[in-house]
Amino acid sequence: MIIAIDGPAGSGKTTIGRILADELGFALVDTGLFYRAATVEARRRGIAATDVAKLIQMLHDIDIVVDTSPSLETERPLLTVDGRDITRDAHNPAIAADLSQVSQLPDVRRLLVEPQRRAAKGDSVVLGRDIGTVIFPAADFKFFFTAPAAERVARRRRELDKTSGSATPDAVLEQEVEARDRADQEREVAPLRPATDAIIVATEGKSVRQVFDEVMARLPKH
Ligand code: C5P
Repeated sequence: MIIAIDGPAGSGKTTIGRILADELGFALVDTGLFYRAATVEARRRGIAATDVAKLIQMLHDIDIVVDTSPSLETERPLLTVDGRDITRDAHNPAIAADLSQVSQLPDVRRLLVEPQRRAAKGDSVVLGRDIGTVIFPAADFKFFFTAPAAERVARRRRELDKTSGSATPDAVLEQEVEARDRADQEREVAPLRPATDAIIVATEGKSVRQVFDEVMARLPKH
């Protein structure tokens, strides 16, 4: 079974997706990690986020592996490129602008479709922007999470304050959340939008428990 959860940054996908996958005994596939891996590796190699030819070559050469066990203990799932752990770099807010650029490129997206599908072996909760529309259009359940930009930025601030990123200036944070979402919504290929058969879940002002219950209520009892 595939449960797709799409939505903008800070809408609660990751928090709820983790708990849901843990509760159901499903894998958790966070597809944003593939775009983050491509961006981090490009920067390491000095490849510009607009250099399509070099990015494509790079993607043919590298092996991206994402951890799909929905651990509630660790802060982030493990992400490696050719065996190198890039988990921390992948969540550095400073990569936001490049991340938006890289994710907009149709050739990059095309090359990352199959690795995302392969990562979702068996029953999976799959998080992203285009899961219900492009990656798994026949998903058994499709959810689309929403929350106003101000709340999403505030959530991100709280999250960063808990980890090492509290020094991140507000402008960088807004770029990380608002500007990235604008780019995700406005891009031509696979823009961020709900599938026509998606269940919209407004997370504004709701507790994790409330959102979780709302999602569970839509799934068959087992
Ligand atoms: O979900 P996360 O914030 O980690 O995603 C990082 C970026 O990767 C998004 O802003 C978006 O540009 C891109 N992305 C995407 N399609 C997905 C998942 C992520 O374009 N399915």
